[in-house]
Amino acid sequence: MKLSSEQPVFPSTPMQPIEFGRPVEVAPGILWLRLPLPYALDHVNVWLLDDGDGWTLIDTGIGDERCRTIWERLLTADFADRPIRRIVATHFHPDHIGLAGWLAERLDAPLLTSRTEWLSARLLALDSTSGYAEAGRSYDIAAGLDADVIEQRFATGNRYRTSVSVPPAAFSPLAAGDAIEMGGSTWRVLIGEGHSPEMLTFFSAERNLLIAADQVLPRISPVVAVWPTTPAADPLREFLGALPQYLELPEDCFVLPSHDAPFQSLHERVRSLVRHHEERLELTLRACAEPATVARIIPALFRRKFDAHQLGFALGETLAHVNYLLHQGRLATVGNEGGATLYGRP
Ligand SMILES: [Zn+2]
Repeated sequence: MKLSSEQPVFPSTPMQPIEFGRPVEVAPGILWLRLPLPYALDHVNVWLLDDGDGWTLIDTGIGDERCRTIWERLLTADFADRPIRRIVATHFHPDHIGLAGWLAERLDAPLLTSRTEWLSARLLALDSTSGYAEAGRSYDIAAGLDADVIEQRFATGNRYRTSVSVPPAAFSPLAAGDAIEMGGSTWRVLIGEGHSPEMLTFFSAERNLLIAADQVLPRISPVVAVWPTTPAADPLREFLGALPQYLELPEDCFVLPSHDAPFQSLHERVRSLVRHHEERLELTLRACAEPATVARIIPALFRRKFDAHQLGFALGETLAHVNYLLHQGRLATVGNEGGATLYGRP
């Protein structure tokens, strides 16, 4: 693939989306590849950095047939002469790490990720016990969902396993503050939190570029949710705690996000994410003026109707706001209604 040597002028507004499966150079030696997802959010961006004799791939797409078919074509065409030599997974979500195991084996390439993301991916991909679904049922009962919805969600079981190839048994850990050479530049690892536990993002000072994963997206707010395996967690505190480090990066730095298109208004976007959650926290408090279950708070935060998949996100996000307020002492558990927890003013 031919690369231009001229420094491109980065647009100040988000760039236009590109075609699925056709890599486009987005900065010198960095390719943007858009891969399809079978969800309402229908795509994920992955990045390829030119290391001279080969490429570093950052994220892989989800482990389904459509995505695999695209990779089969790319590996035998675009990346046949100079292969992908390293695979970096920013976090354990299936749209990011989904094909890491399959690609690593096929390419005989190492996986680099953070310890917690590897542990989460490997554990969930291999978990064939009934524990996950049972934890889900307890979580749904505590949230006050209707019995038929609870049974429907329980029957789905561990969806993670069907969306990923099993991640490699060995990996190279990356952690906060590490420096890594990719695409002829040095990148510093900044850890994003809240959306996933130890998500890798990368900043290159010499390029003024941030590979932001899902921590800062240009249009949508990253999902910050409490999941069934950690019902008492406070991911919103982690998410809001991780954001200020991005305000220390240059205001005009160019951001490569995992969804939507590259953009340049990093500081403005970080501030609007903070405001978004402050508004949600106010709405949550208001919804608890009378003791309320999580199921009753959801409509105060989300006006749409949900399918079972989206309901999981809405429920998890609502509980994230509830748990944040609980940890701050601004909400308390005030009772129980048929197994469901009631939240109200302390
Ligand atoms: Zn994600």
